[in-house]
Amino acid sequence: MKVLIIGCGIGGPATAMALREVGIEAEIHEAYARGADGVGSFLNVASNGLAALSALGAHKKVLESAIPTPRMVMWSGTGKRLGEVANGLRLDDGTVSHTVLRSDLYRTVRSEAERRGIRIAYGKRLVSYDEGPGGVTARFEDGTQATGDLLIACDGVHSRTRSILDPQAPAPRYSGLYSFGGIVEDAGFTGEPGVYNMVFGKRAFFGHTVTESGQTWWFANLPRKLGDVPPDWKPALIQAFEGDAGFSAELIRRSEVEPGLPIHDLPPVPVWHRGRVLLTGDAAHATSPSSGQGASMAIEDAIVLARCLRDGKGHEEAFASFEAERRPRVERVVAYSRTISNSKAAGPVARVFRDLMLPIFLRKGASQESLAWMYRYQASL
Ligand SMILES: Cc1cc2nc3c(=O)[nH]c(=O)nc-3n(C[C@H](O)[C@H](O)[C@H](O)COP(=O)(O)OP(=O)(O)OC[C@H]3O[C@@H](n4cnc5c(N)ncnc54)[C@H](O)[C@@H]3O)c2cc1C
Repeated sequence: MKVLIIGCGIGGPATAMALREVGIEAEIHEAYARGADGVGSFLNVASNGLAALSALGAHKKVLESAIPTPRMVMWSGTGKRLGEVANGLRLDDGTVSHTVLRSDLYRTVRSEAERRGIRIAYGKRLVSYDEGPGGVTARFEDGTQATGDLLIACDGVHSRTRSILDPQAPAPRYSGLYSFGGIVEDAGFTGEPGVYNMVFGKRAFFGHTVTESGQTWWFANLPRKLGDVPPDWKPALIQAFEGDAGFSAELIRRSEVEPGLPIHDLPPVPVWHRGRVLLTGDAAHATSPSSGQGASMAIEDAIVLARCLRDGKGHEEAFASFEAERRPRVERVVAYSRTISNSKAAGPVARVFRDLMLPIFLRKGASQESLAWMYRYQASL
């Protein structure tokens, strides 16, 4: 069997590696020359995502360029400490959730796939596909095509494959937030490495952590109408945090600010597969970044899919088993993440309520055990 994988972000290489583990050949077709490396500056690979990578023997490579970030401390914009939560759980071998530059994560999974002999074709933007009795043919923007037995879409939240598979599929849903990120080499203040400080500011949300080497990594979520893009984001961002306690405005002032990214998630996508074609990762169930789970979900998908294809009687049964196993979990994550995103975009009244309720919620609700369903999950082949 030969599988065509569309998209070489995180899910694409993970899927190809997982398929190889069960003896299925796969080749990856990526739209860009080098993949979407620059999109977003860094991301959280949660303990469950690392557990999934370990099933592929690829977690150690990712950890080499990542920093451990096991805890989060929440603050209000007035400087009140609202509480603390664990960022994931500790795996049996002691590994905690890590933060990694997006470009490092993409490069690592891609080069690990290549090292294992998986072919990646760049500059191949899928525009359409046709299915026949003997296979599926993907057609690319450059006029070339490729044929395989199955087509697995790992082409992200704005998936072209999804809109061909089901023209009625829901469109990505704007969260109301633009996302920014930056790194300051020597911010001139210290902090506890491994701790994310999350500030529910008066007008926007800010997170930062310091590394052992003294860098400060920050991200910001700014409520904004979709398309309301200023000529220069930096003053707009500084203004949003001016007057908040903490270091937000100062860190932004000292950074180069790249254009903000509008954050989307997906409402439940009714059709995940038809015939020889299946959606996975963000193409099937994009979550907003607030849960720090999108990449982990894509890697878990890869492993579950490989197991289903190995154990199923044909691809239709395998795709159905995959969906039955994955849909409840990923939709729960998307819903959880959306709740957090909504609290970041809170208006003035909701904000007061949030700042009052959050400490109670953090004490009672956000315990390790209440989120164990998300973090304590071992995807296995
Ligand atoms: C600002 C931001 C912060 C985030 N933070 C986190 C975080 O902290 N933790 C976390 O786990 N997740 C986070 N995420 C989400 C995470 O990035 C995604 O969930 C994850 O990348 C999904 O992997 P994927 O392989 O499904 O899609 P992607 O990684 O998006 O990869 C899709 C690939 O498909 C390619 N492609 C697209 N269209 C085509 C086409 N027509 N033909 C061929 N190729 C195509 C793209 O170029 C890309 O390389 C964040 C996302 C954003 C935007």
